[in-house]
Amino acid sequence: MATSPESEHPVKAYGYAARDTSGKLSPLTFSRRATGEKDVRFKILYCGICHSDLHSIKNEWGITTYPVTPGHELVGVVTEIGSKVEKFKIGDKVGVGCLVGSCRSCENCAIDFEQYCPKQVQTYGFTNFDGTKTFGGYSDHMVADEHFILRWPENLPLDSGAPLLCAGITTYSPLKYFGLDKPGMKLGVVGLGGLGHVAVKMAKAFGAEVTVFSTTAGKKEESLERLKADHFIVSKDEEQMQSVAGTLDGIIDTVSATHPIAPFLSALKQQGKLVLVGAPDKPLEVAAFSLIVGRKVVGGSNIGGIKETQEMLDFAAKHGITADVEVVPIDYVNTAMERLLKSDVRYRFVIDVANSLKPT
Ligand SMILES: [Zn+2]
Ligand SMILES: [Zn+2]
Repeated sequence: MATSPESEHPVKAYGYAARDTSGKLSPLTFSRRATGEKDVRFKILYCGICHSDLHSIKNEWGITTYPVTPGHELVGVVTEIGSKVEKFKIGDKVGVGCLVGSCRSCENCAIDFEQYCPKQVQTYGFTNFDGTKTFGGYSDHMVADEHFILRWPENLPLDSGAPLLCAGITTYSPLKYFGLDKPGMKLGVVGLGGLGHVAVKMAKAFGAEVTVFSTTAGKKEESLERLKADHFIVSKDEEQMQSVAGTLDGIIDTVSATHPIAPFLSALKQQGKLVLVGAPDKPLEVAAFSLIVGRKVVGGSNIGGIKETQEMLDFAAKHGITADVEVVPIDYVNTAMERLLKSDVRYRFVIDVANSLKPT
């Protein structure tokens, strides 16, 4: 007998899903697996709205299968654990980020880089090892192997902390991996959206002197006053760009629209590193000489492994880092998506799932 998302698993679940490329989200009843012996099941309290969710619901990357329930910045409270779960107990505050599975045996998994495992299972819109689809956090509850469950630090707020599960690790991981985490470094952050504003906070917490690059002067005050960046540069102003030429140890580029990177390579000092974490859909142009002269590096980075994500959450809690959020009820999600498309949010929407999602 053919199964459907409503019946393939024994545990009923409900959430919001997009059913076609219009991306319009509406209530969906589906099912999740029973709690396996290594599984942790938790009630979702908050879920951040990531820009990836917007791409996914409209199938802009061409890999969406409908219905899709997005959300990979989930926090909640444990309601059930399997018989062999060692790290969690009922009542614990926990989170799930972008991954709920990986092969656990490849060379990437062996060194805690599950994010580069070829068999990784992402939190929504992917095929799980049992052949069924994964559903994300715009829903009432989640179940995952305890390996992929993050322990929520005691003093980290649940709502404004939720976006760290994607935006936080996406910016923390490259700062660590590319050695841009040393106090006193001069770092740049390109773009001041969901990722960029967290990148500024992470870099500051590592002790860097931070320069924000934005296409317009409109974000100067909030960069300097609210986010405590040290400098602000309008990237389209050649004179201002000239003033920072050859000064930066590293730059985290969070922009997902196609844009010239030559000006940012010029801003790097010798052996500086430009790390891309935004994903423009068209190739970026790099002149070989802009790298050769000064032995500069252009790199990329994608989220982070589970061990590092836990380390990032603990670091955020210690340094008081959260995202700047606007908490909304789940029936606001379509409006939130429209506003996100226009960058009309400072800087991340977070859905108050537990208080607004009711069974249909
Ligand atoms: Zn994300
Ligand atoms: Zn693997």
